Amino acid sequence: MKIAMIGSGYVGLVSGACFADFGHSVVCVDKAVAKIEALERGEIPIYEPGLDALVAENVKAGRLSFTTELAGAVAAADMVFIAVGTPSRRGDGHADLSYVYAAAREIALAVTGFTVVVTKSTVPVGTGDEVERIIRETNPAADVAVVSNPEFLREGAAIGDFKKPDRIVVGLEDERAREPMVEVYRPLYLNASPIVFTSRRSSELIKYAANAFLAMKITFINEIADLCEEVGADVQAVSRGIGLDNRIGSKFLHAGPGYGGSCFPKDTLALVKTAQDHGSAVRLIETTVAINDQRKRAMARKVIAACGGDARGKVVAVLGLTFKPRTDDMREAPSLSIIQALQDAGAKVVAHDPVGMEAAKPLLDDAVSYAESPYEAAAGADALVLVTEWDQFRALDFARLKAAMRAPVLVDLRNVYSPDEVARHGFTYEGVGRAATA
Ligand code: NAD
Repeated sequence: MKIAMIGSGYVGLVSGACFADFGHSVVCVDKAVAKIEALERGEIPIYEPGLDALVAENVKAGRLSFTTELAGAVAAADMVFIAVGTPSRRGDGHADLSYVYAAAREIALAVTGFTVVVTKSTVPVGTGDEVERIIRETNPAADVAVVSNPEFLREGAAIGDFKKPDRIVVGLEDERAREPMVEVYRPLYLNASPIVFTSRRSSELIKYAANAFLAMKITFINEIADLCEEVGADVQAVSRGIGLDNRIGSKFLHAGPGYGGSCFPKDTLALVKTAQDHGSAVRLIETTVAINDQRKRAMARKVIAACGGDARGKVVAVLGLTFKPRTDDMREAPSLSIIQALQDAGAKVVAHDPVGMEAAKPLLDDAVSYAESPYEAAAGADALVLVTEWDQFRALDFARLKAAMRAPVLVDLRNVYSPDEVARHGFTYEGVGRAATA
């Protein structure tokens, strides 16, 4: 298959490299000239484990290339994937579809012969209809089938997720697209990853419903964690006790500082807006969004309480800035709101992240300073706050930390440590949904 991948970000670049690895011929297109120039020099513009080697191998094998010229790539392609961003639209929270529609217009003018146009970006119900309408209006002679094929990969584990998905969802209205969709995913199909064929609208909604459900699951355990703190229970035990029930499942039951990232916040909001527009409110999701919004500042209040109730003049060391480990993605990271709230309360923040500091700097106040290691961050600190559970933070040397800090206080927003173990080192420990130890 000859594939043009429009948009070479977290999803487009990983998908393009994996399709090339399956043996297809892939051209990754992006408007961002610096991104394409970096890729052509062999540099990967994002941090994603294993992606550098996968890209290098497939470029070397002649199956993967990069360009800023959409028209040439589309003209030569049997299949065109749209993997551009769909951020929250400023002001109203609807998905901003301007990048998708702009790509559709450009694709319409460039296609030759029968071409399958596949929307991989996360888009609201009905977007496929509009993409098809735009293509037909822009170029009535274009012979296209417009398909929905949402992506479920997770940053930090993206290649594994793409190559071993729980399922592949394909929504189509034109039967001519079925065979090419099977063909492009054939290596996965042979590995028994099920393909769910459905209508385009159902496919579009599957993606939002899946993300909203996961966001709701996280928010559920976060509220149970708050209750645990009030009644003297331990959310880790509650989570394990309910997660072993197969009907519930143990994943996404980790209490923490609230969900963030480039998908859950914008996708839950977009689903709420779509549902309201159709007069069919999704109240569970509306509440999930509201609870999660409040949670991040609540985490800052937890830190302030651990500092003795007043953070003015205190130094707080923050470990982990990215929204989760093994990515450099800072979009909607809980650290952003937590740090802002700590600064609002008069604290001085020193931050460390293994890969996210460069991406974080433009998003954080200039008063934040950065350290090269957890121990440098902890020097003179009144509290250490673990915000993102990078592996590097899972075996900290508490004796060294204690010697460096002004006060031995650990606020563990990911419940990485056992309270007793930390207390043995002479630390005051505050987790999420667990009894505090002093
Ligand atoms: P991203 O911002 O990393 O990448 C999007 C890229 O598209 C950018 O590099 C941008 O320059 C490029 N672009 C925009 N308009 C273009 C055009 N007309 N022509 C060529 N390039 C263009 O975004 P992402 O994180 O890869 O997300 C892409 C889509 O996938 C979104 O809809 C997102 O919701 C969805 N998604 C993301 C993830 C994830 O983990 N990041 C997972 C599943 C689905």
